[in-house]
Amino acid sequence: MKLKELIRPNILALAPYSCARDEFKGEARVFVDANENPFQNGYNRYPDPLQLALKEKIAKMKGVKPTQIMLGNGSDEPIDLIYRIFCEPKNNNAVAIAPSYGMYGVCADINNVEYRKVSLNSDFSLDAERLLAAVDEKTHVIWLCSPNNPSGNLLNRTEIEKILTSFGGIVVVDEAYQDFSAEESWINSLDRYPNLIVLQTFSKAWGMAGVRCGMAFASEEIISYFNKVKYPYNINLLTQEFVSRRLDLVAEKESQVGIILRERAMMQEMLPKSKRVRKVHPSDANFLLVEVDNAPSLYAELADKGIVTRSRHNVTLCNNCLRITIGTPEENQILLKEI
Ligand SMILES: *Cc1c(COP(=O)(O)O)cnc(C)c1O
Repeated sequence: MKLKELIRPNILALAPYSCARDEFKGEARVFVDANENPFQNGYNRYPDPLQLALKEKIAKMKGVKPTQIMLGNGSDEPIDLIYRIFCEPKNNNAVAIAPSYGMYGVCADINNVEYRKVSLNSDFSLDAERLLAAVDEKTHVIWLCSPNNPSGNLLNRTEIEKILTSFGGIVVVDEAYQDFSAEESWINSLDRYPNLIVLQTFSKAWGMAGVRCGMAFASEEIISYFNKVKYPYNINLLTQEFVSRRLDLVAEKESQVGIILRERAMMQEMLPKSKRVRKVHPSDANFLLVEVDNAPSLYAELADKGIVTRSRHNVTLCNNCLRITIGTPEENQILLKEI
C-alpha cells in the first residue's frame, strides 16, 4: 500500500490552519497570542488542539503511542473524516458490509462518495471473497464493524485478515462494542497492518454517550492526516477533563459491563419464551437482535407501553427484527413482562 496514493490530492497539498496554541508550546508568563479573555475562570483559554494529556492516558491503556490516536466528537467524526481524507467525491468509492452502522452510508452520501453494500452471510458471518469482489481500482475504503451493529456478532478474524492483506486501501474496523466481547482488539495488530484504522468510542461501555468522544487508532502517518483535516479545537476542555477523570474509574466500568453481560445471557434465555419471539441472534455486544412475529406492530405495542426499541425491519437480513439494548435489571424485567 502506498498511503499517499490513497489520500485526496487537495488534502495531500493542504497547509492546515495553524492555531495560536500550535505555534507556541511550553511554559510562558504572559499569553497574549489568542485574543482570549485573560481573566481566569478555568475555561477562558483555548484547549490543547491535540489533547495530549488525555491521549497519554488512553495510550497507556491501549498499548499504543499517543501519536497513533485521534479523538473526535464521537466516532462519527472520524467516520466523516475518513471520507474527507481518502475519498475524492464522485470518483472513489467505499465498500461496506450490510447490515451495518448507518453512519458509514450517510457520510458517504454527504461526501458524494459511492457506497457499495455487500451482504453478510445469512448468519451474519463475513465472506471476505464476496466483499473483495465488490472492490475495484477506485475503492479506497472498506468498512467493517466487529462486533457488528445491528447483528451483534463478531466478524471472523481470519476473514478480516484476508481483507487486510489483499486489499491495498484503507480497512476500518469499528470496535464500538469491543468492551462487551471476549475477542482481542485489532488495535494490537496496527503495527502489522499499515492500512488499518480501528474505531472505538466512550459512548457505549464507558457510559459517556452524552459527552461525545470517540477514538481512531492507526499508524502515526494516517493520524497526521486526521490532525490536518479536523477542526483545530474539536474536543472541548470540559470533555477532555471529564473523560480523563472517568478513565480512572475502570473498575466501575468493568463491573457495569459484567452486569450487562449477565443480563444479556438472561435475556437470551428468557426472550424466546415469549410467543412473539421467533429467534434471538447470538451477541458479542450490549444488545440483542431479536426476530419477532411482526416487528412494526410489536414496536408500536411496546412504544405504547413506554418501551422504546429499535426496529431494524427493512434492513438487509433483518426482516421483522427489533434491536434491543440490554438495560438495567429493572428495565429488562419490565421489557420481558410486556413482551
Ligand atoms: C454507537 C456506534 C458508534 C457511534 O459512536 P459515537 O462515538 O457515539 O459517535 C460508532 N459505530 C458503531 C458501530 C456504533 O454502534
